[in-house]
Amino acid sequence: MIIREVIESAEKNMLCDRACHSLASRGRKIAEEACPVRTIFQVDRDRILHSKAFRRLKYKTQVFLSPEGDHYRTRLTHTLEVSQVARTMARALRLNEDLTEAIALGHDLGHTPFGHAGERVLAELLSDGFHHVNQSLRVVERLEKNGAGLNLSWEVRDGILHHSKGRGALLGRTAADLPITLEGQLVRLSDVIAYVNHDLDDAIRGGLVSSDDVPRHLRASLGAKNSQRLNTMVTDLIETTLASDCESIQLSLPIAEQVAELRDWLHANVYRAHAIEDEFRKASRVLRELFAYFIANPESLSLYGGDEAQGEATEIVVADFLAGMTDRYAMNLYQKFFFPQPWKAI
Ligand code: MG
Repeated sequence: MIIREVIESAEKNMLCDRACHSLASRGRKIAEEACPVRTIFQVDRDRILHSKAFRRLKYKTQVFLSPEGDHYRTRLTHTLEVSQVARTMARALRLNEDLTEAIALGHDLGHTPFGHAGERVLAELLSDGFHHVNQSLRVVERLEKNGAGLNLSWEVRDGILHHSKGRGALLGRTAADLPITLEGQLVRLSDVIAYVNHDLDDAIRGGLVSSDDVPRHLRASLGAKNSQRLNTMVTDLIETTLASDCESIQLSLPIAEQVAELRDWLHANVYRAHAIEDEFRKASRVLRELFAYFIANPESLSLYGGDEAQGEATEIVVADFLAGMTDRYAMNLYQKFFFPQPWKAI
C-alpha cells in the first residue's frame, strides 16, 4: 500500500463524518497524478508554502506600516497565527487539519502592500473594483508559476474565496457566503479570532491604546490578557460547535457578539487612529502614482518584475503587479521613479 493511501485510510478513523476527507475532494481543474506520499490537501498546503506570493507576505503590512520594531505582526505572521489557531480547533473537532492549514496559509495571498489602505486605492482605481479575496484566488489560479497557477483542489479554492467576513455580523450569514467545507468555515472564524487578538496586542505595544482602554465588560468576559482572550474564543468555538454536532462552525451568541464588538472597537480606536491613517494616506499616494506610471508606461512593467499585458486589460495587469508588491518594494520603486537620484559616478 502506498503511503498516501495509508493516510487516506487513517482519516476514516480519525476524522468525523462531517469533515472533508481527502478522498472526497472534488479534485483539481487539471487532473494530475496523485502524490505517492501526500494527500491532495497536503500537496496544496506545500504548493502555497513554496509560492513566491507566500514569501512576500513577510513584507506586507498587517496594521502597522513596515514596522521597524521586530515584534509587530506582518501579513505573514498573521497568516501563521490564523493557521495555528485553525489547526488547533480542527484537531479538536476531528476535522481535516491539512485542508484547514492549506486554506489558512492561502487566505491572504492577494493582500496588497500597505494593508487595507492599498486595497481601498485599487478598489477606487479599477473599473470593476478590487477585493483581496478575489485577488487571493487569482494569485493561486492565474498568477503564480508565471501564469500557470498552482492548480489547487476545489475545496482549498472555495475556502480562500469565502474566508472574508466584511464588517457585518460574524454569524448568521446566508449559506452562499460561507465556504462549503467546515474546514473553510473554521478558517473564516480563525481569521477574526487571530486578528482581533494580535492587532490589540500590537496596538498596546505601539502605545496607541492601553489594556485598560478596552471596554470593561469585554475584559471581564473575554479576558484581560491576550492569551486569555484567545483561549476564551477558541474554547467557546470548540464547545459550541461540538454541541451542534458539528453541523456548522459556531461561536456562542454572546461570544460572537463580543468578538464583533472588540473588532468594531479596534476599528474606531486603532485602525482609524490618526497615527495609522496619516501613514496610510501617504501610502495610498505611493500606489496611486505607481498605478498612473505603469498605466502610462505598460512596456516598462517587465523591467520591474511585472508582466506585459497579454490577453488582459492593462489596468488588470498593472493591478496584479501592484497588488503583488511588498510595502518596501512599492516604496523603493516610488523613490526610484519620483525622487531625484544622486549622481553616483565619480
Ligand atoms: Mg486574514
